[in-house]
Amino acid sequence: EKEKLHRIASHQSITPDGKSVQLAANISSFKELEIALTSGATGVGLFRTEFLYMDRNRFPKEEEQYEVYASVAERLGSESLVIRTLDIGGDKQLDYFELPEEDNPFLGYRAIRISLVQKELFKTQLRAILRAGMHGNIKLLYPLITSVEEVRAANAILEEAKQELRSEGVPFASNMPIGVMIEVPAAVMIADLLAQEVDFFSIGTNDLLQFTLAVDRMNEEISHLYEPFHPALLRMLQSTVDAAKRHGIKVGVCGEMAGDLRALPIWLSLGVEELSMSAHSILPLKERLLKTRQQESLAIFRQLQYCRTSKEIIAHLESFLEKQE
Ligand code: PEP
Ligand code: MG
Repeated sequence: EKEKLHRIASHQSITPDGKSVQLAANISSFKELEIALTSGATGVGLFRTEFLYMDRNRFPKEEEQYEVYASVAERLGSESLVIRTLDIGGDKQLDYFELPEEDNPFLGYRAIRISLVQKELFKTQLRAILRAGMHGNIKLLYPLITSVEEVRAANAILEEAKQELRSEGVPFASNMPIGVMIEVPAAVMIADLLAQEVDFFSIGTNDLLQFTLAVDRMNEEISHLYEPFHPALLRMLQSTVDAAKRHGIKVGVCGEMAGDLRALPIWLSLGVEELSMSAHSILPLKERLLKTRQQESLAIFRQLQYCRTSKEIIAHLESFLEKQE
């Protein structure tokens, strides 16, 4: 079985009826990149940079960050590397950066909200990413976006970073594509507006589920309520992808659901361009992709839209998987 999976690592990731989907990896370090590449990943759809800031006693300097981003980009060659800016707060804390005690840290001071206040910290990271853009195919991704204003404010700081580099004569990638995470219901509802501000969307199903269902993703007590196949999420996904298509931008998915075999017909039917997941999920998913027709997926998706419960949705998706065996 393992050998079979390894053989397909070099196959193109395309359905029998010709729909190709990029299967990329989620990584948080250079080390994880190697594992991802041996697992058949094409590019990195999510580089979680917060891990560069963790397990140390001060913020990483521009140069240190630049070196990491540039070596990952270089290792990937022309394949794309999506770098997400700092996403701390919530479940991720830094020893040397005191965050306020909060009743609801997941709804609190975190991610892009910190970056827009700690401008210098943000700019340091942006400078490092812009410079690393000279070594490969880097795209920039902002986390936890809830409004158009946030995108514009982040872009304004990005412009400052570019101005600085320009005046210092430091080379950088001036046309780096910008994307936003769609991981909050507000972002789904204004996806048409956001699509006009950015080059791509990356749907973060982990947080999107947490916020859509009002279920803490870390809380074991209520983990049975954390249902990826809830009809509400299905509608969220559809409306996000519709908005993106209407405005001609690409959509990827980078939450855990991207690697869930059961969800594949959903992605094929919606027509997402990229699925980014943990390295270990890539080959099993690719094996499925190679035998799942987009046409069949469309038929299944139509059935899912009539389902009223997660149970029904899961039943449809699982019976499809079994039929394929
Ligand atoms: C997500 O929220 O789905 C996501 C991919 O990001 P993280 O798990 O790092 O919050
Ligand atoms: Mg998230």
